[in-house]
Amino acid sequence: MADSIPKFKLVLVGDGGTGKTTFVKRHLSGEFEKKYIATIGVEVHPLKFTTNKGEIIFNTWDTAGQEKFGGLRDGYYIQGQCAIIMFDVTSRITYKNVPNWHRDLVRVCENVPIVLCGNKVDIKERKVKAKTITFHRKKNLQYYDISAKSNYNFEKPFLWLARKLVGDPNLEFVQAPALQPPEVHIDNDLMDQYNQEMEAAAAQPLPEEDDDL
Ligand code: GDP
Ligand code: MG
Repeated sequence: MADSIPKFKLVLVGDGGTGKTTFVKRHLSGEFEKKYIATIGVEVHPLKFTTNKGEIIFNTWDTAGQEKFGGLRDGYYIQGQCAIIMFDVTSRITYKNVPNWHRDLVRVCENVPIVLCGNKVDIKERKVKAKTITFHRKKNLQYYDISAKSNYNFEKPFLWLARKLVGDPNLEFVQAPALQPPEVHIDNDLMDQYNQEMEAAAAQPLPEEDDDL
């Protein structure tokens, strides 16, 4: 029964050009069933995942590009139950803006689980390195490297959010959602290296000098 499936509003934010729309469109049935809310200019993609406890739907909100002209209206955030903040690992400014997106988000959505995603890790000229990515540690967010175009780590943010929302740290996805075929190749050795760098960075004390980043 479709109506009994638990549904959560997921707010997707981050600078224009970081790949939010590309990311959300990877999930085929969500893209097929998306709804456009003209009054606020957003597309809502119902992204369904199958867990060992049943199905779960993330009604994922994506802007029509309004973020390129400044912040988003409160209506975008209201009743958000979880969030993804995205930046582009090839663009330092998009990482520098993460605290602003976080501030806007938590002003309306207090205490919701949030994942920070560094997108486009398929691009060799990575500018935002593991040791720079510390914001999530200060604010208790989860972090993942992702590559929307290659589907790398596509499910990771959703699984982490699902575990938080359901309150079950052992929740698992038992069936892969249908995704668009990868458009770019991912270098697995390089991803292993990035993961090691992220682990090494996590073992370092947090820098103190800057209050925001
Ligand atoms: P949005 O403004 O945040 O919604 O970003 P878009 O989804 O429109 O993407 C901006 C640009 O980045 C587009 O040209 C995408 O093709 C590109 N892009 C998005 N994700 C990736 C990725 O994972 N890898 C690469 N190489 N390019 C990406
Ligand atoms: Mg977009």
